[in-house]
Amino acid sequence: MSRVRHVDALVVGGGSCGCVMAARLSEDPSLEVLLLESGPGFASLGDVPSEVTDSRLLPVGPSSPWVDTYPAELTPSTPRVIARGRVLGGSGAVNGGYFIRARPSDFDAWPASWSFADVLPYFRRLESDVDFTGSAHGDAGPMPVSRVAAGARAPITDMFVDAARRAGFAADDDKNAPDSVGGVGAVPRNVIGDIRTNSALAYLLPALSRPNLTVEDRSTVLSVTFDGTRATGVLVARRGGVERVAANTVILCSGAVRTPQLLMLSGVGPSEELRLHGISVVLDHPRVGREISDHPEVGVYYSFPDTGRPASLLEAVLHVDDLEIRPYSAAFDRMIPFHPIGDPMIGVGLMKPESRGSLSLRSNDPADAPIVRYRYLEAASDRAALAGGVDLVGDMLGGVVPIAPGSGDPLLGRLGTSLHLSGSCAMGQGNSVLDDECRVRGIDGLRVVDTSAFPVVPTRGPHATAIMLAERASDLVRGTVA
Ligand SMILES: Cc1cc2nc3c(=O)[nH]c(=O)nc-3n(C[C@H](O)[C@H](O)[C@H](O)COP(=O)(O)OP(=O)(O)OC[C@H]3O[C@@H](n4cnc5c(N)ncnc54)[C@H](O)[C@@H]3O)c2cc1C
Repeated sequence: MSRVRHVDALVVGGGSCGCVMAARLSEDPSLEVLLLESGPGFASLGDVPSEVTDSRLLPVGPSSPWVDTYPAELTPSTPRVIARGRVLGGSGAVNGGYFIRARPSDFDAWPASWSFADVLPYFRRLESDVDFTGSAHGDAGPMPVSRVAAGARAPITDMFVDAARRAGFAADDDKNAPDSVGGVGAVPRNVIGDIRTNSALAYLLPALSRPNLTVEDRSTVLSVTFDGTRATGVLVARRGGVERVAANTVILCSGAVRTPQLLMLSGVGPSEELRLHGISVVLDHPRVGREISDHPEVGVYYSFPDTGRPASLLEAVLHVDDLEIRPYSAAFDRMIPFHPIGDPMIGVGLMKPESRGSLSLRSNDPADAPIVRYRYLEAASDRAALAGGVDLVGDMLGGVVPIAPGSGDPLLGRLGTSLHLSGSCAMGQGNSVLDDECRVRGIDGLRVVDTSAFPVVPTRGPHATAIMLAERASDLVRGTVA
């Protein structure tokens, strides 16, 4: 092992949240900040390959160099491989570009200090909304927010919006408005022109010239080190060796799969499980990796003329009850190189599922992906809601476009995940993993700031809420929270 460096704040993972944390913390010149990212990084916008910024592509197909893949169980009989970003910018660098706020009522499940009134200033601070102004919207933040105007949309989107309006659903033009009540309308996107922005582009690269900020890519943290129950730094694999880095504060931003795995590998997790894998227990934390949540999605395939490759995979959605109906604007194989689904699809996403899953260690080897069990559809109410959504799509569109019937189980064969995994190290009361400042309970000097920290998956896509979380958590670390 070589030299021991020491920093004030060590951010593990340069994804959606990690880039925000490193950029915001390094605004304080008295803080020495180090960001370690497992995947490849970039020194300037000009270095970023177009497939990472092209909103018409999701570079998550087989052999993509920008993702990590994990075998997962959606249900015990439905294995899938899930992908997450492994590149500066993280999953936000490879995602669908749909960038919508959680609903105000979602924060009822969060600790009291994260009410909608507490978080709205941070939703405003993170964005520059080019379509809406006023007290609920931001106009000077790093993340651009735009919508595709009616008339500029893919034909399938316009056809879907018209069908939803004819079926009696309300127009919902500003889905980020606090008083939006659902209905059909344009999706807010972190896309300008054909460029999908992510937090590396928006926050981190512009801050790289700061002398107190260091970013090291291709650096995989293996574990957190401790002195008793105080986190002292990390062990990181880079350039063929293992180094120790010491830090006053370690902030885990490795995403909802790798963060709980890292905690467990470091000795913080359910003690029985840790012992099973020969890991010394630093602190028994029974809820690490437990009660994970995500949005199950069932695909309804249809026939429609090929519409090419539009600027965004999703241009409008219908919110009805706990469902989000997604008329994808192109077949997935158009947007995701080598994707097996070549038929256009309407996605029926369940945004407030009852079922909860779990994540556990496969082994004590950091290179071994953990076991992710979603346990989708376990709750009868989830099944009923999704089946109702599939019927609704048939009723709304059956007369307009021929809907291809699924074979076998009407849900299982077409079941997927929205890739919105949340809650694997949740904030909350009592024995929750994190307190309301994202600190790991019972451990000093260790925080978790990524979608693991969400108490539960929000009822909208998580990306905007993840950036908000990191914006506010950076103020909590600096003691400057509004
Ligand atoms: C294909 C896809 C499409 C999606 N589409 C949408 C969408 O359209 N809208 C939406 O709202 N949400 C979408 N999501 C979800 C959203 O992008 C994520 O919830 C969000 O980006 C997660 O942010 P994060 O900071 O928690 O984790 P991530 O952005 O995943 O960041 C984790 C980072 O940590 C790094 N890392 C992991 N382990 C280590 C380690 N040991 N050492 C160092 N670095 C490490 C990873 O390489 C990664 O860069 C999508 C997700 C995916 C995967």
